[in-house]
Amino acid sequence: MTLNRRDFLKISGAGAASTLVAGCASHSAGPAAATANPKVVVVGAGFGGATCAKYLRMWGPNIEVTLIEPNDKFVSCPLSNWVLGGIKTMDDITQSYDNLPKHGIKMVKDWVVVIDTKSRIVQTKGGAAFSYDRLVLAPGVEIRTDFVKGYKEAEAAGKVVHAWKGGPQTALLRKQLESMPDGGVFVMSVPTAPYRCPPGPYERACLVASYFKKAKPKSKIILLDGNPDVASKPALFKGAWKELYAGMIDYRPNNAPYAVNGDTMTVSTEFDDVKGDVLNVVPKQRAGEICEMAGVRNDSDGTWCAVNLLTFESTTVPNVHVLGDSVLSNLPKSGHMATNHAKVCASAIVELFAGRKPDPIPVVANTCYSAVSDNSAGYVANVFRFEAGKGYVTQPDGGATSKGEEINFVYAEAWALNIWSDMLS
Ligand SMILES: Cc1cc2nc3c(=O)[nH]c(=O)nc-3n(C[C@H](O)[C@H](O)[C@H](O)COP(=O)(O)OP(=O)(O)OC[C@H]3O[C@@H](n4cnc5c(N)ncnc54)[C@H](O)[C@@H]3O)c2cc1C
Repeated sequence: MTLNRRDFLKISGAGAASTLVAGCASHSAGPAAATANPKVVVVGAGFGGATCAKYLRMWGPNIEVTLIEPNDKFVSCPLSNWVLGGIKTMDDITQSYDNLPKHGIKMVKDWVVVIDTKSRIVQTKGGAAFSYDRLVLAPGVEIRTDFVKGYKEAEAAGKVVHAWKGGPQTALLRKQLESMPDGGVFVMSVPTAPYRCPPGPYERACLVASYFKKAKPKSKIILLDGNPDVASKPALFKGAWKELYAGMIDYRPNNAPYAVNGDTMTVSTEFDDVKGDVLNVVPKQRAGEICEMAGVRNDSDGTWCAVNLLTFESTTVPNVHVLGDSVLSNLPKSGHMATNHAKVCASAIVELFAGRKPDPIPVVANTCYSAVSDNSAGYVANVFRFEAGKGYVTQPDGGATSKGEEINFVYAEAWALNIWSDMLS
C-alpha cells in the first residue's frame, strides 16, 4: 500500500498546533515565502535517497528532483547475510532503478565530487553541474579501513573484505566461504558502536554457522567484537549460538582488530594474533565522504552529521539535508529508519517550499528482522515520537524477540520485498 502525504501527515501528527522547539529548529524550519519551481538534488539512491526522491515527487509535484547515484542497480544490505548463508543469491537482493524516472525523477548515473554550498552547486565526476534550492545527502557510511593497519593492501589483494555495503564484496565473501576447506576458520569482526545495522554482524555469524553446519561441519567461526557485549538482540543471538551452533562460534568481546596481514592471513587485536582461512573484518564507520565535502560532518569529532530532526536539515549548513546512516541521533542506523528519515524530510521540504512550517511532532519507526538459521528469525521493533526539547522518544509498545521463529523468517523476507517496493516501485 502506498501512503499519500495526507495519510502520512495524519499518522505523523501534522496539524497539531505547536511551535518549533528552541534549539532544534534550524535555519529554515519556520515559515517563509513560497519558492516557485524549486529544485532539489538528492545524492545517493540507497534506502534514504531513493525514498526521499520518490516521496518528494509524489507529495510535491512542482518540485524538480535530480537523483545522483553511480550504481546501475540497487543491491540491498538487508538479506545480504542470507546470500552469505547460501539462502539467497545476489540476483535476489539486486533491484532495478527503472521505475524511479516514472515518478518524474531525473536520474543521473555518476559520482558527486564537488559540493559548493555557497553557490548551491553540485558537480559530478563526469563533469556535469546541478544547481539546487535544497540538497539532500544520503551517502550511507564511509568504512574506516584506514583505522586497521594493513587493511587497504589486504583488501586490494582480495584477502580481507568487510562486505558492509551490498555489492561485489558480498559475492566475493560468499565465494571465499564456498572455497574454504571443511575444518577451516572464518574470522569476522564487529566494529565499535555506533555502526550501520547493530544486529547485522551477529546475524552474519549465525547464517555462516548455519551454512557450515550443513556443508563444512568441522569449521569454526571466531567472532572478534570491539564492543563489551553483543550490541543488539543479545538474547536472540546468544540463544542461537548455544542451541543451534554449540562449539562452533568462539565469541570474544572487547577484541577490536587493529591490524590485518593478508600474507599470513592474520588479524591482530591487543590480546592475540588470530589466524583464519577467510577474513571478514568490518572496521569502524563514519558519515559518507560527501558529508565532509559539504561541511556537514559536524559533530564534536567530525564523524556524524547533526541535523534538525524535524527537517533533517544540517544544523550548520543551510539548505543541506542529511538522511540515513550518516545522521547523528539516538535512532538506529537501519534501512527501515533511513526510509523514515526520508519521508519526514520530504514532507518538511514540501512544507518549506510552500512557505509553511514542517510537521512539529513526527513519528518514526524501525523494524529489524535477523535470521538465526535458514528457517528462523527474530525481530526488534520500535516507534519513536518527537517531543519538544527531547528529540525522538522511544514509545512503550516496542519490543524484541528472544528466540528465532519460523513465522518471523517469512515476515523478514516480506519486510524486504515491501521496503524495496516502497523505495523503488
Ligand atoms: C549485513 C547488513 C545487514 C543489514 N540488514 C538490515 C535489515 O535487516 N534491516 C534494516 O533496516 N537495515 C539493515 N541494514 C542496514 C542498512 O543497509 C543501512 O542502514 C541502509 O543502507 C542505510 O541507508 P542509507 O540511505 O543511509 O545508505 P545506503 O543505502 O548505503 O545508500 C547510500 C547510497 O549513496 C551512494 N553514494 C555514496 N556516495 C556518493 C557520491 N559521492 N555520489 C553519488 N552517490 C553516492 C551509494 O552508492 C549508495 O547507493 C543492514 C546492513 C548490513 C551491512
